[in-house]
Amino acid sequence: MPTEPKTIFIAGEWSGAQSRASLEVRSPIDGEIFAAISRGGKAEIDRAVAAARAALSGPWTTMAGFERGRIMSKLSALILDNTEELAQLEARDTGKPISQARTDIKATARYFEFYAGAADKVLGDVLPFLDGYQVTVQREARGVCGLIIPWNYPASMFGRTIGPALATGNTVVLKPAEDASMSCARLTALAHQAGLPPGVINLVTGLGEEAGAALSQHTDVDFLSFTGSPEVGTLIQTEAAKNHVPCVLELGGKSPQIVFEDADFEAAAKTIVSVITQNAGQTCSAGSRVLIQRSIYDRFVAVLREKMTEVRVGAPAADLQCGPVINRAQQVKVKGFIERATSDGINVIAQGTLDKSAVATGYFITPTLFGPVPVKHELAQDEVFGPVLAAIPFEDEAEAIAIANGTAYGLVAGLWTENGARQMRVAKKLRVGQVFINNYGAGGGIELPFGGVKRSGHGREKGLEALKEYTVAKTVVLKHG
Ligand code: ADP
Repeated sequence: MPTEPKTIFIAGEWSGAQSRASLEVRSPIDGEIFAAISRGGKAEIDRAVAAARAALSGPWTTMAGFERGRIMSKLSALILDNTEELAQLEARDTGKPISQARTDIKATARYFEFYAGAADKVLGDVLPFLDGYQVTVQREARGVCGLIIPWNYPASMFGRTIGPALATGNTVVLKPAEDASMSCARLTALAHQAGLPPGVINLVTGLGEEAGAALSQHTDVDFLSFTGSPEVGTLIQTEAAKNHVPCVLELGGKSPQIVFEDADFEAAAKTIVSVITQNAGQTCSAGSRVLIQRSIYDRFVAVLREKMTEVRVGAPAADLQCGPVINRAQQVKVKGFIERATSDGINVIAQGTLDKSAVATGYFITPTLFGPVPVKHELAQDEVFGPVLAAIPFEDEAEAIAIANGTAYGLVAGLWTENGARQMRVAKKLRVGQVFINNYGAGGGIELPFGGVKRSGHGREKGLEALKEYTVAKTVVLKHG
């Protein structure tokens, strides 16, 4: 009998679930079971939240910001020292090509580096008020932060959420996705090794509807951060509301890449294909719609066709552009979008090719470019979360903006035009959280505040902006006469 996994970390100790239950971990590369994780539930969440609460009365809270920063710097260095091991683990667990996995691990280290430097720079304000008064606004840690993260970028999501939480003096309970918990467990061990006091970081692996639900419902959590599907985001926010707990939600998108007739075709097409196939299209901010000015539609599509046809899909070790999607359910879902679009008569402009390393038992998808896609079709409206790109023609600026804003989402937009006035005009009218002009950073940019509007969620992570989310303002009014 295999030994019981111990992937739950509470108050500085590793354990299995109290129930002794575990979950098998399948690799998307071949569908084989290669590991197991503990199936934590309410009991473990209760213990983890209690440990995180207790740690707020310990040395973590009295430590100066720079001392917290030093521990985080050490963690960053440990992550870099272990890049290869972490990247191999991440690639096995999520299927991403090994270069992409290495990039993610370096991004994780960079999060801790960035927020280590910020830990002693969480500044307040001095406000002008009445004569004889001194008013300060101080930013205080929220307390116990419940962090529920998805499977697409597990390691870097670990850094994105825990980095700002620790920089501002919070303690955390992390619930990684059941499909991708392995790197989070290893990173938690490194965080402990870096010198975080027990209880500051707690990890509970398990199912969303068990451990995740228990965390979002917990009455002793002070703040929730969730990244995942809009449906679960609604559940999280509903639970948060019952306990009057603030939350940040990042829920995906249908991000447009808008290509005007004066764009640099080569640069635009190369980036557009690269970001929709990166991580097999399983990126919240993937540019999954390409809006092309009608006057250049045929010519630009020809360049896109060439780039999409060059995309090769295979196992992480082959290190191609695109790997498998995370699990069988996701493969079925993405294939469903492709099959329905095809049966609805939408033209397939180009497809990538499966490499011989893409074994039949793995969860591979052939990257596909469709177009022209009618703006009301599901391929132009719904998040596919796979390597599927929808080309949509537009006449002029006004129509481009209307189509770009015409979905339920509002996360990121890409603009491709050399016209400076147009760059600014259009950027101002897009209802999104980030606009990239003549570049596009799906998932990248630790320094860049990130988050959406509408069904893409609310609140901001990354950059210094995240420090505001993980703190609460306290106004202190002193009358000195
Ligand atoms: P995806 O569609 O990307 O799998 P989910 O929203 O289902 O996204 O999952 C994102 C995270 O939310 C995962 O860690 C998952 O375990 C967790 N989760 C899923 N269902 C729930 C739930 N009912 N309550 C809390 N967390 C959940």
